[in-house]
Amino acid sequence: MIYNSEIETLKLEKLRSLQNQRLRDLLLRLQQTVPFYQKQWEQAGVDLARIKSVEDLHKLPFTKKSHLRDHYPYGLFAKPMAEVRRIHASSGTTGKPTVVGYSQNDLEIFDEVVARSLVCAGARPGMKLHNAYGYGLFTGGLGMHGGATKLGMAVIPVSGGMTERQLTILQDFEPEVMCCTPSYALTLGEKFKELGVDTASLAVKYAVLGAEPWTETVRQEVESALHVDATNIYGLSEIIGPGVSQEEVDEKGRGSHIWEDHFFPEVVDPRNGEPLPHGTEGVLVFTTLTKEAFPLVRYWTNDICSIYYDPDSRRSHVKMSAIKGRSDEMLIIRGVNLFHTQVEAVFTEFQELTPNYQLVVAREGNMDQVKVLVECQQDLQPRTLSYLSQQLMKRLKGNIGLSMKVEIQESGSIPRSVGGKLSRIVDTRP
Ligand code: ADP
Repeated sequence: MIYNSEIETLKLEKLRSLQNQRLRDLLLRLQQTVPFYQKQWEQAGVDLARIKSVEDLHKLPFTKKSHLRDHYPYGLFAKPMAEVRRIHASSGTTGKPTVVGYSQNDLEIFDEVVARSLVCAGARPGMKLHNAYGYGLFTGGLGMHGGATKLGMAVIPVSGGMTERQLTILQDFEPEVMCCTPSYALTLGEKFKELGVDTASLAVKYAVLGAEPWTETVRQEVESALHVDATNIYGLSEIIGPGVSQEEVDEKGRGSHIWEDHFFPEVVDPRNGEPLPHGTEGVLVFTTLTKEAFPLVRYWTNDICSIYYDPDSRRSHVKMSAIKGRSDEMLIIRGVNLFHTQVEAVFTEFQELTPNYQLVVAREGNMDQVKVLVECQQDLQPRTLSYLSQQLMKRLKGNIGLSMKVEIQESGSIPRSVGGKLSRIVDTRP
């Protein structure tokens, strides 16, 4: 099943003409309603008449998170408050949160792209969704809720946390689909194992996981621990929330479709913003083609991936690779760029290790060092442990090009997700 077959399989040529028409409408709307864009384009000497198609987008300046902060809370809204129907905000762990708004039509688009995503992940009308994304200012909970309702699912609005209760609901309410962060899916799988629950007997068959970067290592663990097909959902509140892109359950590991009739993606060089060709990794940038209350032009997400078309896919929309990390969270250790997902990916080769880990960054003398704390599945002999550490260090150095220390700890010693996103990096540098 494809939720919106006409749009999701639209031939590229037609998709482009739809995007071009929507882009021109968007730019005119913004010029009339958002002084920030009026000023930004004027200063950059942009002649809007010359932006005729998405191919011309590169002539426009970027919108960055700092611009959102400068116009906190509502300065970039393109609709009067009387037409805004919902307000969300990012967690804002550093500084003020980023505030976003939705018109009625924006909420309908949000529902539509989440419904497309759920179907792509394996969900069908009539199924039940265990929604363990946080409800509240975070877009995850309400975003998945709206899309599942539109699809015709029964939503169980569990929200994040209270793990014991999650387990009871997964067993007794018999949802066929669940959604949460990948790190929380690991927690749930582990808890079931501790309780000796045979997860093969649960109704749940599909897990839709997102809101943080994850790799095949975590997919393997979640799929075997919960007996599900786990797929990736990506999104960010600035663009809409979850449902900007979604991986197809029959095309696992081949990237996530970006619903590009609404969100036009570009990938640019993180150093100078130059557009990069398809298949090349860089910063993902989005233009929201249809949003009314809070549209953004060339929004610099900081997320690192590549985009490409997959001619063997059932859907025509462009795909993005799994996010490697955020460019503003990339570690630079002795001149080598490091994302935690690169370390996570190496664990797949080590059956004895769990995907629970932490990277501890410290300054020793005037050198930065990374220690990888990771857990073993069961108690191992000291000799085996030491052999395993050596092998892991070798593999990390071979794959990433950086010497890192390794400490294999006993199972359960590394922090787990208690409901939401999990930070894998502890930076102790001054
Ligand atoms: P907050 O800012 O409160 O964390 P958001 O949901 O807006 O809330 O966070 C969006 C960010 O989360 C994205 O820019 C990206 O870095 C990360 N993210 C979301 N989904 C995924 C995913 N599937 N894979 C990797 N990273 C993701």
